[in-house]
Amino acid sequence: MNLKRRILSCIILLILLAIICIVGCFQQEKFPAIGIPTIGKAFGSESNKKIALTFDDGPHPYYTEQLLEGLKEREVKATFFITGKSAEVYPDIVKKIYEDGHLIGNHTYNHTQLSSRNREAYKQEIIKTNQVIKEITGEDTIYIRPPYGSWSKEFEKELNMFPVLWTVDPLDWCSSNVSCIVNAVCTKVKENDIILMHDQYKTTVTAALEVVDRLQKEGYEFVTVDELLFD
Ligand SMILES: [Zn+2]
Repeated sequence: MNLKRRILSCIILLILLAIICIVGCFQQEKFPAIGIPTIGKAFGSESNKKIALTFDDGPHPYYTEQLLEGLKEREVKATFFITGKSAEVYPDIVKKIYEDGHLIGNHTYNHTQLSSRNREAYKQEIIKTNQVIKEITGEDTIYIRPPYGSWSKEFEKELNMFPVLWTVDPLDWCSSNVSCIVNAVCTKVKENDIILMHDQYKTTVTAALEVVDRLQKEGYEFVTVDELLFD
């Protein structure tokens, strides 16, 4: 009887060990089967398709805030190149841009185009605009979008400013057709592009948010320009 019990205990023990072993092996196999690294990588590469939306000439008393609202809903960060003159008139909107986590850049004080005759005045416009922005946000600005793309490399060292041009220009300022603007962006855009728009028009606000909706579905991630240029 005693021997029978011992044998029975041994058998039960062996069965338990076998169950533990099988469950253990199954668990071990389960992890690679779940494929966390593969899926992670797949999502990773998708979200690495970065692009930047940039908005020039603001802040605008109506459209900038409408745009900010739409960007917030979509959890999108953009870059705003503002003029010192408008920033002085609408400091609360500049503050909102900053507090929403967008990047703010300099677009000169009066939206001035650099020429051979106005170099010193142009420099002063940049300095003045940087001061206006710092008074509102408390932060230094190092990015500039020179109006019309006219720039002098010497200013980069002199003023410690980094120029940011663009790679996609849907000419939103001369079109009142939202789908034309959206298509002009979406048919050309590729990874690391910098899209130029102007938060000065109702059509631009609608088009920009539509661009976000379409490109997010295609796996694009919207980032501020500093992230594109230095990451
Ligand atoms: Zn401009």
